[in-house]
Amino acid sequence: MKDLTALRDEYQQLQATGLKLDLTRGKPAPAQLDLSNALLDLPGSAELKAADGTDIRNYGGLQGLAELRAIWGDVLGIPAGQLVTGGNSSLALMHDCVVAALLTGTTDGPAWAGQSIKFLCPAPGYDRHFAICERFGIEMITVPLTDDGPDLDEVRRHLADPQVKGMWCVPKYSNPTGISYSAETVAELAAMPAAAPDFRLFWDNAYAVHHLTDDEVEIADVLKLAANAGNPDRPFVFASTSKITLAGSGISFFGGSAANVKWLLGHLGKRTIGPDKVNELRHARFLPDADAVRAHMRRHREIIQPKFDAVLSILDEELGDEKGVTWTRPAGGYFISLDVPDGCARRVVELAAEAGVKLTPAGATFPYGDDPADRNIRLAPTFPTLDDVEAATRGLAVCVRLAVSERA
Ligand code: PMP
Repeated sequence: MKDLTALRDEYQQLQATGLKLDLTRGKPAPAQLDLSNALLDLPGSAELKAADGTDIRNYGGLQGLAELRAIWGDVLGIPAGQLVTGGNSSLALMHDCVVAALLTGTTDGPAWAGQSIKFLCPAPGYDRHFAICERFGIEMITVPLTDDGPDLDEVRRHLADPQVKGMWCVPKYSNPTGISYSAETVAELAAMPAAAPDFRLFWDNAYAVHHLTDDEVEIADVLKLAANAGNPDRPFVFASTSKITLAGSGISFFGGSAANVKWLLGHLGKRTIGPDKVNELRHARFLPDADAVRAHMRRHREIIQPKFDAVLSILDEELGDEKGVTWTRPAGGYFISLDVPDGCARRVVELAAEAGVKLTPAGATFPYGDDPADRNIRLAPTFPTLDDVEAATRGLAVCVRLAVSERA
């Protein structure tokens, strides 16, 4: 191991190179967006009608075009009748579901507002989920995330509390650790007793088809398992095409029981006279079936897998011997999760920033932005070029070694 002076020299050299790199957000790279440019020429001015004769230019069709729901129902394993399309953002749908539950309650309970309610937050997790809770004063309870999903003993213990009304879940290729929930975990979450009859799983299947290896993970069917367990309304399922077609101009989806679909449509019908059916038909034409979606995702993989491979091989090479430093090897999704020795994450992020490598703020992957061990750092390699990913990861490694050495 190098001594502190040598590491400081190395860091100064890194600073002198004047990097300006960004590994912060899970955005598709321009080359990935290019894969969907043909969308912009669809459906074309000659095609004005959906399969059932609906004029796509006009108002109406609140639940979304049937042909689009059929395609994505197949992809997501949800009957088309139990799917609702949203606008360009599944995060917005999640936000709206929380707000609707707060203001008017769910299918089996009164308004959450005025009660002091809590959400379980498996962590490390997605900062924007936590931000919704923080915004509305929902208390967050951190639950450790294992390789199989949330720690079920902890979940069980907290569900005995009737104030626990919700739980954030990214069941497949989770943000940021990349783990997927085991079949047993999904079955338990669907069936586990909850003191609150209106407890909801916010099941954010954001990375449903975002594989990085040939070992394409399938997760268990939460809607079916919950229905079989007598909890049909427990899961709110979310997904979107944000990282499939165009991140800012995709389609989002809500999946749920018939009662939950009715509940959501009741709210949506008050805020819109209908979705953007031009975008919906364009998507149905561009990716006309589940096989087309799979083929399209393989093209994404060709672009991003080399970036993940580069991060992993540089971390192996540079930090393989560094005690207490570990990272995930995701089989899908958009992130690599790096753990550094306790108390070092903030310092690593600070050193990296001062050397021109922007990282997601340390702590962001935990409720209230507070990683109690100050250990976890989320890496998002998809957006920068391969060269930049390599340079950023080598720079990061210098910062990790220096931060660890400073604390020793
Ligand atoms: N959920 C997760 C887990 C995500 O990582 C992201 C994007 N980073 C989103 C939701 C956002 O999805 P959308 O673009 O559909 O709002």
